Amino acid sequence: MSDPNELTVLNPATEEVVATVPAATAEDVDAAVVRAARAQTGWAALAPADRARLLRRFADVVDAHTEELARLEVREAGHTVAGARWEAGNARDVLLYAAGGAERLVGRQIPVPGGWDVTFQEPLGVIGVIAPWNFPMPIAAWGSFPALAAGNAVLLKPAETTPLTALRLARLALEAGLPEHLFQVLPGHGDTAGRALVDHPDVAKIVFTGSTRTGREVMERCARLVKPVTLELGGKSPNVVFADADLKAALDPFSFLDNAGQDCCARTRVLVQETVLDEARAFLADALAAVVVGDPADEKTQMGPLISGRQRDRVRSYVPDDAPALRGKAPDGPGFWFPPTVLTGERHDSPAAREEIFGPVAVLLPFTDEQDAIRLANDTPYGLSGSVWTRDVGRALRVSQAVRAGNLSVNSHSSVRYWTPFGGYKQSGLGRELGPDALTAFTETKNVFLSTEVPAQ
Ligand code: NAD
Repeated sequence: MSDPNELTVLNPATEEVVATVPAATAEDVDAAVVRAARAQTGWAALAPADRARLLRRFADVVDAHTEELARLEVREAGHTVAGARWEAGNARDVLLYAAGGAERLVGRQIPVPGGWDVTFQEPLGVIGVIAPWNFPMPIAAWGSFPALAAGNAVLLKPAETTPLTALRLARLALEAGLPEHLFQVLPGHGDTAGRALVDHPDVAKIVFTGSTRTGREVMERCARLVKPVTLELGGKSPNVVFADADLKAALDPFSFLDNAGQDCCARTRVLVQETVLDEARAFLADALAAVVVGDPADEKTQMGPLISGRQRDRVRSYVPDDAPALRGKAPDGPGFWFPPTVLTGERHDSPAAREEIFGPVAVLLPFTDEQDAIRLANDTPYGLSGSVWTRDVGRALRVSQAVRAGNLSVNSHSSVRYWTPFGGYKQSGLGRELGPDALTAFTETKNVFLSTEVPAQ
């Protein structure tokens, strides 16, 4: 049973306690909303260029603390130090991009008879951002920083297991000169602090990133208040590998092992054309054996532990000891370790091939031809990301048009760039983050008509 008053942060590589943090109550959320609403009024009244200047200063402060933030992420989330540095850099980049967005957020003038018609993009007010544990810094940044840039205040609730980098970011915002209470972090439990944010009538929008199950509940509760919601949910993404592909690049095991597989974009369904299936199996067996799993603070480590014992139990439940599989190595002893694994005896409709496992486990499945590949790729309730590997340009285009997912890569496994839109089809989510429209998602459009009719004398 978790303590309702406190969060215990464990180092996933050692199981040692890193910190205990008081858990926000529903009353704490109420008080934070009042303070945030007050701060937001002054913030929204600033000229966009002034908001941008402060956000750029915040980015500079984050940049100066990259190593500290990265080391904190290693300790609370078990991420490799290289991955954690990328995360801190991503938070800085999202801030800089959002700052530029503040200066470019403009309305329109639309020709109408008898007057002028103008639109305004007005901030929503106080935004609630609810984040998961798998990429604590980037996901906090994607939800929070464009919202701030558009003139809103933000209340960020990090995941129970990973509140520390979020708390640090809030301190750095103050150091950079952002107004007090504009960007507050409320560490707490999902069913208390999380729900209180979702249910609060003065929280104007929720950005939720997490599991599809919780996302569904958040959307239902938002519906009662007709509150807008952005949902970034689970995935079970396909990696479609045709026989003519560069197999070595296509079967890069970090396409599903990055962050120990705790990655919503992980390409965990490895769909390989049957004529090269044996070759793919042999390549993956060697690749998994070569993965360096261990202390995430060591620069040479390629894969760290899972976030928790609970998560490891969940991953284990999909991988019985006697399951046909290719397996890498993992350390013994304390820490939530699990070896890199590719299941080779699954059917495409078995639970391991359909459900999001969220660990270093992929399934290898054959397909016959292009139509079969598209059918298998789409036979999932999810639609977040995916890759298509072929040297045939026409086929690459046909398959990437036919696969229903928000973020596809051709001859690449990369999914995330802060200046391009990110989000899911189907049960992977609703709405988009990042990219050129990131700020607009935190505004209402107001239309004003000004009559130019000459008054009757
Ligand atoms: P989760 O759904 O358990 O929790 C996510 C957050 O919601 C946490 O902060 C939690 O405290 C909070 N929460 C829990 N119950 C709540 C409730 N009733 N009301 C309000 N908030 C509540 O997810 P998780 O296990 O932390 O994260 C892993 C999941 O996140 C995976 O499914 C993964 O695919 C998904 N994810 C998606 C994306 C994306 O961009 N699509 C990115 C990262 C992770």
